[in-house]
Amino acid sequence: MTTPMLKFVSVAQQQPEKRTAQNRRADFDEIYEDFKPVKAAEQASRCSQCGVPFCSVHCPLGNNIPDWLMLTANGRLEEAYEVSSATNTFPEICGRICPQDRLCEGNCVIEPGFESVTIGAVERYITDTAFENGWVKPTRPLRERPESVGIVGAGPAGLAAAERLRAVGYQVHVYDRYDRVGGLLVYGIPGFKLEKDIVSRRHRLLEDSGVTFHLGQGVGDVEGEIPFAELRKKHEALLIATGVYKAREIGGPGAGLPGIERALDYLTASNRRSLGDTLPEDAKGLDAAGKNVVVLGGGDTAMDCVRTAIRQGAKSVKCLYRRDKANMPGSAREVKNAEEEGVEFVWLAAPEAFLGDDHVTGVRATRMKLGMADPTGRQSVEPLEGSSFTLDADLVITALGFDPEPLPQLWGQPDLAVSRWGTLKVRQDSFMTTLPGVFAAGDIVRGASLVVWAIRDGRDAAERIHKWIKANASADAVAEQG
Ligand SMILES: Cc1cc2nc3c(=O)[nH]c(=O)nc-3n(C[C@H](O)[C@H](O)[C@H](O)COP(=O)(O)OP(=O)(O)OC[C@H]3O[C@@H](n4cnc5c(N)ncnc54)[C@H](O)[C@@H]3O)c2cc1C
Ligand code: SF4
Repeated sequence: MTTPMLKFVSVAQQQPEKRTAQNRRADFDEIYEDFKPVKAAEQASRCSQCGVPFCSVHCPLGNNIPDWLMLTANGRLEEAYEVSSATNTFPEICGRICPQDRLCEGNCVIEPGFESVTIGAVERYITDTAFENGWVKPTRPLRERPESVGIVGAGPAGLAAAERLRAVGYQVHVYDRYDRVGGLLVYGIPGFKLEKDIVSRRHRLLEDSGVTFHLGQGVGDVEGEIPFAELRKKHEALLIATGVYKAREIGGPGAGLPGIERALDYLTASNRRSLGDTLPEDAKGLDAAGKNVVVLGGGDTAMDCVRTAIRQGAKSVKCLYRRDKANMPGSAREVKNAEEEGVEFVWLAAPEAFLGDDHVTGVRATRMKLGMADPTGRQSVEPLEGSSFTLDADLVITALGFDPEPLPQLWGQPDLAVSRWGTLKVRQDSFMTTLPGVFAAGDIVRGASLVVWAIRDGRDAAERIHKWIKANASADAVAEQG
């Protein structure tokens, strides 16, 4: 018998249980419990199965959400997993960290009045269950191909491409300067949003499917790195999926004082500590224990920093943001989590100067007011004269965004064209850069974005690489015959 759907009228929205703020402040474990099977089925049955599913339209992967919700509601989980994994390489990761309120769930048609279906939580539940039951198998190609593809970067874009290319039989080699697979999934995003064994089980699966990883292997011209030109000769095609890592710096008086740290350095050190790594001596300051911490910025990276500082046992944690709460770029869900955990937000305030002699001791800030909206609707901000105030700070973390590293210079490739933002230029139809046979995907093309977009781009780039290699192989065969 098929379970009726459309239960949103009688069944209220319920996310998986969230651990209490008191409890979750004490560790770096994920904050949501797993869905119980009955709850997952019940929540999935709230879907209205609409003819034009706006949730799918607004999912960057175009996931067939209504189908896997209906299968989950009916307990047909193995089929739900088949459908869900057909379009998404890492559904259990997206289910955990996509900003669903801006994507699928934010566009659920039952949202006004009834609250959306809990799409992300069900997606995570389906694939976690699939792993528990051994349904997730390494990708095995039907036949091996002789050509090899090199991928620079083991973040979500590079990994999604690796899985797709392996599926059609290529010899896939992934190079990463880090010692672990996952990119920002491992060293940027904290464990309370995404536990690291979720990423390492994907690493093992890719290895089991025959992908070769060259970890701790940077690409570039510094000693110990592989020169880009050498890599190009080694493989039939290359994919650049290196992400964006140049932190935007803050200026002003005192900006160079010790104790002012970049967000990614801080988060990487924290993630490494949780993974049991020994940190170098100069990373000692990247710990908030017992300190007054001020984080500058209002995006998701800033939210990750404030919540990490809470867990490290900071004396106080303040987030300074120049606009108001309604204009925060970060996900509303993450702001709420941070508030619950004890973070204090100082809205409409911007730093003027950093105080201290040989180490930062405070931030002098000024109050801001919102002004006219620009053509995009975003309001400008102006300082309120004479409104300066000071916040105590032993650790200031700057979370002001990221830009791409200058790859053409770093790799001695002046013909590798970049946009005016420094991201790599690719042809929309082929994902190829201005260097023949060199493709690019993920943040290095889009600028700082989302995991789900990196997966989408990685999958699409893999398809175009396959097309390009096949076309080249047939052209070579014709030339040989002729
Ligand atoms: C703190 C933080 C929190 C975030 N939280 C979220 C979130 O909650 N949800 C979400 O959807 N997105 C989030 N994002 C964004 C998301 O992590 C990125 O959009 C995504 O990881 C981009 O994937 P990518 O594969 O393009 O690059 P990355 O994940 O950055 O991976 C690039 C890889 O390339 C390697 N590399 C770079 N240069 C070289 C080189 N020269 N040689 C060899 N290897 C190299 C790097 O070591 C890295 O492993 C967050 C980002 C940050 C910084
Ligand atoms: S991948 Fe992200 S946007 Fe798409 S359905 Fe899953 S949680 Fe929603």
